[in-house]
Amino acid sequence: MTTPLIEDLVARGAVLTDGAWGTQLHAHGLSPGQLPDRWNLSHPDRVEAVARSYVAAGSQIILTNTFQANRFALRDPVDDVVAINRAGAEISRRAAGDRVLVFATIGPTNKLLIIGDVHEDEVRDAFSEQAAALAEGGADGIVIETMSDIAEAEIAVEAVRTVGLPVVACMTFDTGKKKDRTMTGVTPSQAAQALAAAGADVIGANCGAGIDAAAPICAALAGATDLPVWMKANAGMPELVADEVVYRTTPEEFAGHVDDLLAAGADFVGGCCGTTPEFIAAVARHLG
Ligand SMILES: [Zn+2]
Repeated sequence: MTTPLIEDLVARGAVLTDGAWGTQLHAHGLSPGQLPDRWNLSHPDRVEAVARSYVAAGSQIILTNTFQANRFALRDPVDDVVAINRAGAEISRRAAGDRVLVFATIGPTNKLLIIGDVHEDEVRDAFSEQAAALAEGGADGIVIETMSDIAEAEIAVEAVRTVGLPVVACMTFDTGKKKDRTMTGVTPSQAAQALAAAGADVIGANCGAGIDAAAPICAALAGATDLPVWMKANAGMPELVADEVVYRTTPEEFAGHVDDLLAAGADFVGGCCGTTPEFIAAVARHLG
């Protein structure tokens, strides 16, 4: 299925999303061990500065600082999970104005369903809680990202669908000989079919083994269903240089791969780890 909002967006050509938030928040003073999501309440101005930097770079859709804002990563009831998510959506909404859309992000719980770390219903409740608060904060859509377990991704899609916003469902393919499977061995076509069946409006991939490895994954996703495809690749694999994480791909190199993704069937393009507003601006120039 897909929604009128999504249909309208993709009918006008490639849609530019945003880049990474973590590195930008660190540049604004977030320390390495700190959970970025708490800043929605403690430092909303700095989070809004990151959101505004992507609007200025030319993003047509920006995400939110809510990737880890679930009750497992936050310490419920010490943290107000609902308030953190609602504020995250409100901050991006303020930065977006009325030209840019806000698709709020939901990441994995980091709990393993397969070994009974947590029960399915607890995971479902956590995603429902997050999605409802993001909708309340004014999100136009929800992006489920960086999933590696298909069962968790399906539960997330089903839970998020209940709030009635368009749902983008993305997994991370970075494992195996060809770096085209998730950590749990799921292929792009398996993911596409399962997520479409669960009710996703858009399917996709984020992060992974760098943008130069993303086109075959995109083609496999696009070939498996009729749904629009969302691609947010990273700026290469992270390397540790003198205790600092470095990504080798430059904004121009990144933008140079975008045509391959569009040819492979991508409808939405943006960046994941290592990408910055400069990357998004380079892609915007490239797309004209
Ligand atoms: Zn990433």
